[in-house]
Amino acid sequence: MTNSPLVQYTHYSPYHSGKRNHKIDTITIHCMAANLTVESCGNWFSNPAAQASSNYGIDSTGKIALYVDEQNRSWATSSASNDHRAVTIEVANTLPQAPYPISDAAYQALIRLLVDICQRNEIQKLLWQADKNQIGQTNKQNMTVHRWFANRSCPGDYLYNLHAQIANDVNQKLQTNQIEKEEQQMRYNTLEEIPDWGKPTVQKLLDAGLIAGDGQSLDLSLDMLRILVILDRANTWEK
Ligand SMILES: [Zn+2]
Repeated sequence: MTNSPLVQYTHYSPYHSGKRNHKIDTITIHCMAANLTVESCGNWFSNPAAQASSNYGIDSTGKIALYVDEQNRSWATSSASNDHRAVTIEVANTLPQAPYPISDAAYQALIRLLVDICQRNEIQKLLWQADKNQIGQTNKQNMTVHRWFANRSCPGDYLYNLHAQIANDVNQKLQTNQIEKEEQQMRYNTLEEIPDWGKPTVQKLLDAGLIAGDGQSLDLSLDMLRILVILDRANTWEK
């Protein structure tokens, strides 16, 4: 299990339970209830007075921090069963009072981090019903909030009310990335399958006997096709 490559600052908290007993299938977004930098939040999570931690933190400049390895259970949500399965993320607030707003930079960083967490942990999409009764039913809802487990307002009404939009924004990016991945993995095996912009180039290569002439097994990826067309346009092989 890996951590996010988006992390820009690491300050490990000693306050965690070691390895998770459940695979990651849930996301829990918290609010810091103050405009902490990722550094000051890291200091707090190392303070014995806190006895708290999260896997990740995001400050108002959009900087992303790691406090507890993703493979470990953080002490974030007042629920062992939630924190064994959830990646927990603390987000800084631009104002230390309700509804605990966050900055645009923090929001954008949160979306990027969530897309990455979903991709690495094979979470197909984020699901949000705003329904406490569906805790643990991750095929219906895989986002949870601290207020469902403890008498707290966390993540604040600002972030709570953004949960549907957060899920939407993340899911759109996941879908786009999936399409791009499929494009990258696509193989063209016949001249007919080649997009029109690449056909003249491939025809030329077939005529010259430079690639498989039977038309059955060209095995060209999109990237290969692009390079061949660029080289064709640059007229390199006629020299
Ligand atoms: Zn919280």
